[in-house]
Amino acid sequence: MTKKIHKVIIIGSGPAGLTAAIYSARANLYPLVFEGIQPGGQLTITTDVENYPGFPQGIMGPDLMDLFRKQAQRFEAETCFQMVDKVDLSNRPFKIFVDEEIYLAETLIISTGASAQLLGLQSESKLMGHGVSACATCDGFFFKDKKVLVVGGGDSAMEEATFLTKFASSVSIVHRRDKFRASKIMQDRALKNPKIDVIWNSTIDEMLGDPESGGLTGVILRDTQSDELSELNSDGVFLAIGHKPNSELFQGLLAMDDNGYIITNSNSTQTSVPGVFASGDIQDKVYRQAVTAAGSGCMAALDSEHFIENQPLD
Ligand code: NAP
Repeated sequence: MTKKIHKVIIIGSGPAGLTAAIYSARANLYPLVFEGIQPGGQLTITTDVENYPGFPQGIMGPDLMDLFRKQAQRFEAETCFQMVDKVDLSNRPFKIFVDEEIYLAETLIISTGASAQLLGLQSESKLMGHGVSACATCDGFFFKDKKVLVVGGGDSAMEEATFLTKFASSVSIVHRRDKFRASKIMQDRALKNPKIDVIWNSTIDEMLGDPESGGLTGVILRDTQSDELSELNSDGVFLAIGHKPNSELFQGLLAMDDNGYIITNSNSTQTSVPGVFASGDIQDKVYRQAVTAAGSGCMAALDSEHFIENQPLD
């Protein structure tokens, strides 16, 4: 029996993957979406989303992603809560390995996103969305006149700390060394800001508070030189210790930059393998917004549709 060849397979189910699914489904391409390890993507670990256009009152991140999924399913996109184990991109149709099954795809859209690096504390995951955040652009607004901490010493930490001064009454950057790795211009901008101070040679050992009653109240700091512990009150902790693109599956198969982000052609979502497209945070380390990811998911669907028209399988 010949195996079914799917016109479009999409890996990933954040705003990029599910928007690609909506567009491909409306083009009658019956996309199959493998939702992966975090169905709905990074928005499922945020609470209120207030900057996604069309929701003047805001919407909870998981609810927004449910709506994306329902909209894709309405046009007969097939979504499954499965993880892709391996892909073979050497020939078309591409092979997608899931559990014991092999799925064939005429085109592939990769929207596996990126994950914010976290400290790995239990208290951090418990308080995520309840005072702890990995995205100042998303959550800064909720910290008006509050005292917040930013963890990290790179450009992201400087940028997030500076951004947060628009809302917070004070911002302390907690950095594990006595020197930032951020570019000089970004450091200067942060250090010149009267609302920002730096807690050098320190890491967060524990986050304090209860998600059910008011969320984060403070942290336990560890001095990285003396190992001394101290308690500090705080209303918010923003992690800015880097992001990691979820691109392990495609190592050695697609062109990537030094940080593992998939490289796409300019003004396109085409990767180094014709017929394979990438959209969202897996190929964007600059903007990283739900709305930009959704936009590039739409581009990937249109690119794959044109590809199928112009280069059909024999
Ligand atoms: P990054 O440059 O890798 O910096 C990560 C920071 O987090 C470092 O200071 C690191 O400390 C700290 N860190 C890592 N793991 C930690 C841990 N477990 N505990 C405590 N601290 C930890 O990441 P990034 O700032 O996100 O920047 C990523 C890339 O994007 C960079 O190339 C950056 O230039 C670029 N970027 C550019 C802009 C801009 O130009 N507007 C804005 C944001 C990002 P150490 O220094 O001790 O290693």
